[in-house]
Amino acid sequence: MILVTGGAGYIGSHANKELNLAGYETVVLDNMSYGHQDFLKWGVFEEVDLGDTEAIRDVFRKYEIEAVMHFAAFTYVGESVEDPQKYYLNNLRNTLNLFQVMNEFEVKKLVFSSTCATYGNPQKIPLTEDHPQNPINPYGQGKLMVEKILKDYSQAYDLRYVSLRYFNAAGADPEQDVGERHDPETHLIPLILDAAAGKREDIKIFGTDYPTPDGTCIRDYIHVTDLADAHIKALKYLETGGKSEVFNLGNGNGFSVREVIEEAKKVTGNQIKATEIERRPGDPPILVGSSKKAREILKWQPKYDDLTKIITTAWEWYKKDNEVGM
Ligand code: UDP
Repeated sequence: MILVTGGAGYIGSHANKELNLAGYETVVLDNMSYGHQDFLKWGVFEEVDLGDTEAIRDVFRKYEIEAVMHFAAFTYVGESVEDPQKYYLNNLRNTLNLFQVMNEFEVKKLVFSSTCATYGNPQKIPLTEDHPQNPINPYGQGKLMVEKILKDYSQAYDLRYVSLRYFNAAGADPEQDVGERHDPETHLIPLILDAAAGKREDIKIFGTDYPTPDGTCIRDYIHVTDLADAHIKALKYLETGGKSEVFNLGNGNGFSVREVIEEAKKVTGNQIKATEIERRPGDPPILVGSSKKAREILKWQPKYDDLTKIITTAWEWYKKDNEVGM
């Protein structure tokens, strides 16, 4: 069975669905701090906090785990600056607990959720995997630490891993079994949809004086189902003897905040009021990734690779999840 930590969360639940569709049996582990009960639609569920090493051992005793996909983590960059301890304890210490138990039970295959936040401010675009990693916040720092620890562990303990550095995960399952739901919500697309649905007055544009064509930040939005698919491909890569590797997962196209708002107006057919305010601290002007390596080695091919598809699936899910009749 495949252990999916954080499988009740946004990306973990989409990957859990794809794993089950691909014929894998899964055990979802989640402490439900940010997870959603109604996202637990596939596999068996164990409510466990990775801070509890003995409880992790119980899961490994109960099921025959062949490989682990490790999604469980806190993901609010701003919060990680205000309360780094919260992030290091969960994203680093608790991750080490999991690796310790994997080691004890000789589970040697891991797919790890890393992030483009490990790069810090880009020196060149698109970002490739060999770009220097100088994270500018504790969230990215903790993920980078895990990447480095994995390198050491893989050499010492025969562990093979794939670290996947996500760009901006967006969109929702096209069948709307699961989707994006955060509390608090800080992400651009769901907040724009709130504005489109009349649930918030406006969307705030954080900074219009960036060195980009329209002055707003550019990001690489990658559909969550494409991300999930990359995890299956990474697992198969490890199953067929692939060596430890790191891959970017982005779609290679950057969109500005204004472009995302304009596209959301088209998709929803609604007015969206945008209010320009000051920059949000810590936002690099442009983050766009090259996923050439994942395409070549994992044979990964994003399907939902344009903004229309991403926002359309996000909007379909949003309407269902918020009971918006439009
Ligand atoms: N953003 C914005 N208004 C918002 C939320 C986000 O202008 O209410 C911008 C943010 O500055 C960034 C982009 O949208 O340039 C994507 O932000 P998000 O928080 O979705 O993801 P991040 O890039 O921080 O991972």
